[in-house]
Amino acid sequence: MNNEEVFARIQKLFDVELFSEAKVLVVGCGSGGGGVALQLVMSGIKHLTLVDKDVLEPANVIRHVCGRRFIGAKKVDALEEVLLDRNVLADVRKLPVDIMKFNPLQSLIEEHTVVVLATDNEPTRFLINELCVQTRTPFVVGRVFTRGIGGEVFSYRPKNGGCLACLERVLERTKFRNGIREIDLVSQAERDLMYGLEVSEIKDSPGLNVDISFITSFHTRFVLESIAATLAERPKYMEPIPENYLVWGNRPSHPFDRHFQIQRITLDPQEGCQVCSRKEE
Ligand SMILES: [Zn+2]
Repeated sequence: MNNEEVFARIQKLFDVELFSEAKVLVVGCGSGGGGVALQLVMSGIKHLTLVDKDVLEPANVIRHVCGRRFIGAKKVDALEEVLLDRNVLADVRKLPVDIMKFNPLQSLIEEHTVVVLATDNEPTRFLINELCVQTRTPFVVGRVFTRGIGGEVFSYRPKNGGCLACLERVLERTKFRNGIREIDLVSQAERDLMYGLEVSEIKDSPGLNVDISFITSFHTRFVLESIAATLAERPKYMEPIPENYLVWGNRPSHPFDRHFQIQRITLDPQEGCQVCSRKEE
């Protein structure tokens, strides 16, 4: 199998070659990260490093890109097999580790062109945000809102736009996300009422796969945009995405008032941000 055979159907529309040297670090290989990784290899991205310490559980399968035959396998091993099945040219590196306890994390980030941030908790997101700001490495984070009513994608672009801490400050000051909460922030009693499931399962995957898929598609597009921004030549048929933050509503549930609602925002660096407002030379 060579490039010609693998990419025959997409090569005329997409500059596969320009993206072939990009290195993508996927932090979190659940339904979100797995979906983004699969979309990326199907776009011709070859070099991926997968980070996730978890094993695929029976309840994951209904939303994950890996099916029943991978139950009990480490998510990184299962996902590698699925990625190679789609693109035999993919070069996958696996790290079944806890990202919070992984010491060479900064150098790992520095080795990559862009980070796909797809974990399900705030501490890991803010750790990656800090290290990416320090090393000036782009990252894209996707989050799905409670019950899959919608979600958001934020793209950190070094030199151009704010960071994840800036975004949280802006959201705190506005009513923008009033009434929308991530599943992490919902009380135990509410979780039990809504799902009757174990907390860990809910945190992994709020909503149906179809709801999560909208977010993973935007997530993937922003990752491709981050890679495109690092290239000397602009890839064909890929206009830049000017905004760095997007909120998507799947259905008319507060605060959304219709199906498929989109809000686009350009988030500038916020003065006094503790993470990114260091004096730049
Ligand atoms: Zn900031």
